[in-house]
Amino acid sequence: MAIERTLAICKPDAVERGHIGEIIRAIESNQLKIRAMRMVHLTRPMADGFYAVHRDRAFFRELIDFMTRGPSVIMVLEGENAIARWRELMGATDPAKAAEGTLRKRFGASITENAVHGSDGPETARFEIAWFFPGYEVGY
Ligand code: ADP
Ligand code: MG
Repeated sequence: MAIERTLAICKPDAVERGHIGEIIRAIESNQLKIRAMRMVHLTRPMADGFYAVHRDRAFFRELIDFMTRGPSVIMVLEGENAIARWRELMGATDPAKAAEGTLRKRFGASITENAVHGSDGPETARFEIAWFFPGYEVGY
């Protein structure tokens, strides 16, 4: 199994409600390492570019309004099979459908305000890490 890196975000709803600590606890207690971290209040161009793949979807505007309404905490996670493992910890996109104990079940309020983000594959992870951490290189 490969060591992977993935991009994780505590979205504005999770930051507003004071869930950064619980989310980081879930990361650290599940053998994922935080390799980079920054708090960013996304501008519209940053959010539009990050979610460009969704720009034709009906929910795009609502998603961008949400993601730009307050700061997010953005992290690079690393570990064995990190991409799938972080998505498993997050749970399904819709908190109502997310498994018991997942972060979206615990902290998500709706399909838009679902507390956390995770890259969905290696190509996406490379794009998303470069989007928020340009020039980022792990130190080994
Ligand atoms: P995921 O974050 O689970 O990878 P997507 O990539 O499909 O999900 O969607 C990106 C984000 O857009 C979701 O996390 C959620 O915040 C929002 N979103 C997705 N689907 C919907 C929807 N049907 N209605 C409203 N918002 C949505
Ligand atoms: Mg996605």
